[in-house]
Amino acid sequence: MSYQVIQVSGTILNKIESFYKEHKIDKLPAGAVFVAKSPTCNITAYKSGKVLFQGKGADEEANIWKGFGATAAPSKSSKKATTVSSSGNKVKSSLPAGFASLSVIGSDEVGTGDYFGPITVCAAYVKKEQMAMLKELGVQDSKALNDEKIVRIAKAILPHVPYSLLVLHNEKYNELQQSGMSQGKIKALLHNKALQHVLDKIAPEKPDAILIDQFAESGIYYRHVAQQKNIVRENVYFHTKAEGLHLSVAAASIIARYSFLKEMDKLSELAGITIPKGAGSKVDAAAARVIEKHGESFLNKVAKVHFVNTLKAKKLVR
Ligand code: MN
Repeated sequence: MSYQVIQVSGTILNKIESFYKEHKIDKLPAGAVFVAKSPTCNITAYKSGKVLFQGKGADEEANIWKGFGATAAPSKSSKKATTVSSSGNKVKSSLPAGFASLSVIGSDEVGTGDYFGPITVCAAYVKKEQMAMLKELGVQDSKALNDEKIVRIAKAILPHVPYSLLVLHNEKYNELQQSGMSQGKIKALLHNKALQHVLDKIAPEKPDAILIDQFAESGIYYRHVAQQKNIVRENVYFHTKAEGLHLSVAAASIIARYSFLKEMDKLSELAGITIPKGAGSKVDAAAARVIEKHGESFLNKVAKVHFVNTLKAKKLVR
């Protein structure tokens, strides 16, 4: 049986207590302040600020609170907890058996490495009954699809799949970035929001699981979203290359890429030149042309200005 012990402050302890309040039981061992039995694990909180999670969901539940600043408990139990957690993480990153045929909400983002254009994040719900149809429509790992196919497949699947698509335009992105927010946090907030939107759309139906194409370790992800009113955490899995693990992530990725392409077309029109993807030398040259045509401040509307491409473009202009 998997278990984890974390050490928390009084404030977090109160948060944890109210979080699990529906699952609290009356029988307390010595030194305990509360005990809760959630569907996936038992939680025992002690006056010392130690909280013990036991059961198959122990790693996942404990990780949530690490996101709020809880640490692995010190003292002799810490060694044990670390060992359990590292082996537990392995278990966690491997998905439940038969995952590909469950009904899942998947999420993915596009545009984070592109100098020009927005970040688009999509969460999409694919039920097991829809999989044959989506495969028929060509849904597969979007990296294997060219732009033309992306557009065609996206248009075909949009009417069939409950989804949420968020577009973070460059001006807003630059503002957040300049206020000190990391790209990781920006992405986490967008994923959390998109997932919540889809959960709201399909309610009272619930997915069997949620799969996020992993861009951060789960503890870091939950730290990023810790201040949000709604935090999507039930049955959430993180996995790299998730597009190949469930069609919902593949569908989300296709929709996000379709949206990104449309936005890039709009930017090309706005700038009066063809705006390239990526962050290579073609992009530097295009950014230099944008500066020549419209002035440097125009980049704020069409590009992620903190990328080194801005400096390279300015050199090209000189
Ligand atoms: Mn991804």
